[in-house]
Amino acid sequence: MIRKISAKEITNNIKEMCIEANHYLSKDMETALKKAADQEESELGKKILAQLQENLLTAGQEMIPICQDTGMAVVFVEIGQDVHVEGGLLENAIHEGVRLGYSEGFLRKSVVGDPLIRENTRDNTPAVIYYDIVAGDKIKITLAPKGFGSENMSRIFMLKPSDGIEGVKDAILTSVREAGPNACPPMVVGVGIGGTFEKCAFLAKKALTRPINENSSIPYVKELEQEMLDKINMLGIGPGGLGGTTTALAVNINTYPTHIAGLPVAVNICCHVNRHAVREW
Ligand code: SF4
Repeated sequence: MIRKISAKEITNNIKEMCIEANHYLSKDMETALKKAADQEESELGKKILAQLQENLLTAGQEMIPICQDTGMAVVFVEIGQDVHVEGGLLENAIHEGVRLGYSEGFLRKSVVGDPLIRENTRDNTPAVIYYDIVAGDKIKITLAPKGFGSENMSRIFMLKPSDGIEGVKDAILTSVREAGPNACPPMVVGVGIGGTFEKCAFLAKKALTRPINENSSIPYVKELEQEMLDKINMLGIGPGGLGGTTTALAVNINTYPTHIAGLPVAVNICCHVNRHAVREW
């Protein structure tokens, strides 16, 4: 049986999600910031983490975006193969939701229509959209506005298989070390290992939307996530890049099968404003 979902309903949800994600962080992010403030060893680091928490509170109470960079809207759509979108194209419905969300929510318009001509599109469209066709008759949308201070510090490494796990660790630490204060730490580090050149970048981006209090279900990957978080926090970059023991709040790693001749690794860095809104219906 095919379930009908209207394009308008999708547009309305996307609009609300753009506004929601830019004013409230998910509970796991809030909890991690609070825990980091309690555990940070540097006095200045503690102060910065307290300010970040105050900023977050004010954003929600006074409906001021958490950060002036309200990001480019990245949208992950999981759509059941028993769903039919009626009244318009799904893709258009999503872009329209972003347009309305950024216009009516008074969010900064940060998108240029051509990467070299660089004229602002004035409504933050287009979004970057990824589709996944899944079983069932539901639609699940994750909307993640991505700031570019941290996006610009992200990296891809086409490692050799012989580089192994030590090569992966080195790639992660190199990326974070070079990002330093530019990625507005404390960061959340999304890592993709495997697949192809573009697949590992997608895995890293998607990893940023996993709750940061959840580790990978693969035992060795979970260990790697914990080891990398400890090592990153020993780099001394600290909150705001001003020194301290909280450089990252989490390292989330996704893996995928790859070719016998390669070991692609992508490191997608997000700042402390790791925004995403999720809805399923
Ligand atoms: S990287 Fe994050 S905190 Fe820094 S300016 Fe961009 S959105 Fe804001």
